[in-house]
Amino acid sequence: MKYIVIGAALLCILAWSGIANRHSIVVSLMSSGEQPPLNATTDEGTDTVWFDDYFTVQALDERTFAIGEPRYAQQNYSYLIIGSERAVLFDAGPGFRNIREVAESLTDLPITFVPSHFHYDHTGNEITFDQVAVVDLPYIRARAVDNRLTLSAPEHLGVAEGVAAPTLSINEWLAPGSMMFLGGRQLQVLYTPGHTDDSISLLDLTSGFLFSGDFIYPGPLYAFLSNSNMGDYLAGAETVMSYESLVSKIYGAHRVRPPGAPRLGINDVKDLRKTLEDIRAGKAISGGVYPREYAINERMMLLAEPEFLQDWQSTNRESNEHSN
Ligand SMILES: [Zn+2]
Repeated sequence: MKYIVIGAALLCILAWSGIANRHSIVVSLMSSGEQPPLNATTDEGTDTVWFDDYFTVQALDERTFAIGEPRYAQQNYSYLIIGSERAVLFDAGPGFRNIREVAESLTDLPITFVPSHFHYDHTGNEITFDQVAVVDLPYIRARAVDNRLTLSAPEHLGVAEGVAAPTLSINEWLAPGSMMFLGGRQLQVLYTPGHTDDSISLLDLTSGFLFSGDFIYPGPLYAFLSNSNMGDYLAGAETVMSYESLVSKIYGAHRVRPPGAPRLGINDVKDLRKTLEDIRAGKAISGGVYPREYAINERMMLLAEPEFLQDWQSTNRESNEHSN
């Protein structure tokens, strides 16, 4: 009897430590630890040109360019948004190739790099920029020493492909809701957490383009990582919907297949919000075990934790009150 009790206690401890450490277990299961092999060259259609054998450039209008990495396994897209005084590069890919050369071939203006969030496949890593702007959240600002911010392993996840976490030298802090002025063009910073708690989107108030990072793109959306949160995801969707009338097109950071940059519309955010509301209400149908797969529409799926592990308490990272 004594052994049965000890065995049961041990099982409980093991089960609990597995739950507590599940995010690092999941990341290690998803990790190869090295750069993945390149995809074959793709046919990207007539409005896209190959910059070299790796990057593509697609003009979304005369001052906005999607820089694609269709041969990278995660098919990343970064966006160069050009004003009359400066340009913003929203995301920089995993840095296996130098996206700065592509951006500088498209503008002579100073370029400010803005990561949509701190995952390694967006931060460019060994690629550096003269100007860097990041989201201004109290818990991030508190970690920066002389405006230098070293990314943590759980927020960067570079171990998945053998990429060391960089230290960013920050020139500009972007408060949620604030404006970036590029000269004749302004971008509003929207705080769109959920995928991660440090995720932002940029809304171009002139063209109505919303650059959404990993918050939303056509394909599977990851809402089960270490700093994902379901309550945040819903809050982020509500924030975007509150700008509904200003959004013309949405450009995300990944795509599943060619051709061209990953494009969505505001109705896709509406579908995401509906799916999140249905999951919270226990009305959504899911497949899979871990992560659970919830269909959003024919172009998107939300990957979340099983119901009993989902956190619907929004983390409210915009305030100082939440300090962990
Ligand atoms: Zn990400």
